[in-house]
Amino acid sequence: MKATLFRRHGGPEVLEYTDFPTPQPQAGEILVRLRAAALNRMDVLVRNGWPGLKLELPHINGADGAGEVVALGSPLPEGEGSGVRVGDRVVINANLGCAKCEFCQNGWDNLCSDWHLLGETIRGTYAEYVCVPARQLYKLPPEFNFHAAAAAALVYQTAWHSMVKRGGVKAGETVAIVGAGGGVNSASIQVAKYIGAQVIVIGSNQQKLEQAESLGADILIDRSKEEDWSKAVFIATEKRGVDVVVDNVGTTFPMSLRALKKGGRLLTVGNSGAPRFEIDNRYIFAKHLSILGSSMSTLADFVEVMELVVAGKLKAILDKTFFLKDASAAQERLWRGENFGKITLEIP
Ligand SMILES: [Zn+2]
Repeated sequence: MKATLFRRHGGPEVLEYTDFPTPQPQAGEILVRLRAAALNRMDVLVRNGWPGLKLELPHINGADGAGEVVALGSPLPEGEGSGVRVGDRVVINANLGCAKCEFCQNGWDNLCSDWHLLGETIRGTYAEYVCVPARQLYKLPPEFNFHAAAAAALVYQTAWHSMVKRGGVKAGETVAIVGAGGGVNSASIQVAKYIGAQVIVIGSNQQKLEQAESLGADILIDRSKEEDWSKAVFIATEKRGVDVVVDNVGTTFPMSLRALKKGGRLLTVGNSGAPRFEIDNRYIFAKHLSILGSSMSTLADFVEVMELVVAGKLKAILDKTFFLKDASAAQERLWRGENFGKITLEIP
């Protein structure tokens, strides 16, 4: 098969569009002919590498993908993927639990003791073919676009699990979202609006804020003009503060803690800024704040949120599409933050 892979860690120049052996489905696995893949920041971090990261090289990036089922490794476990047939159009859930440990058995497969993320710890979707366990597939309706499906999978399951399952965001609450451009943030805006919350978006420039507004954001704060945006949040909420802050930047935690009302919740699924920063503990205890972390979602959440995506109630925002062979240019665009929503790869 054709794949874009890397044989050593480094910059975009290490990506190579080349031939690689087509994976063969093991028992319980499905071979998918990918038609679209979507990019995530993690792809670039994995390509760059970090101390202690040990991957079987060459490695293939890519957590998100959609395509057609071409072969079933038999036998499929009982009740699992029994509905999947050759020719089905599917989107992949990249959160890989073992299905056996105590967490998986209790439906918390994103806490699996042998957890893997497609494209991060094992070879992913920047390729013509990929093998995944049958339970990782969600069947798409015939007319649903592969790019829209691939672009939705990781960001929507992440936003849904964090906001609905961990954060318990409710109708009528006010949610501030720090950052407007990233895939999880644009998904978070739509999830919050779908639930019936009021949404404040803190964005880095006017263009990104206008795009956030087009997704339903109610109040826009431009942090290039309002350096202390927690003050702007207070003014916008009549000095009450917000119920929930979605902060996937990290370094903005001090400001997010200030922007919360008493008893508020800070939700986080990542750190596009940096992982280490100082916070003032006094805000947490004096205001009874909760900090709730999460990562990816459960198999059940994935189905729940994909139902809303195929029904058109939640939509992945598509930025730009590149061919698989041009994945390095695609990653460069993502890393420079030039995108609004998801960058995808066309896999001819
Ligand atoms: Zn497990």
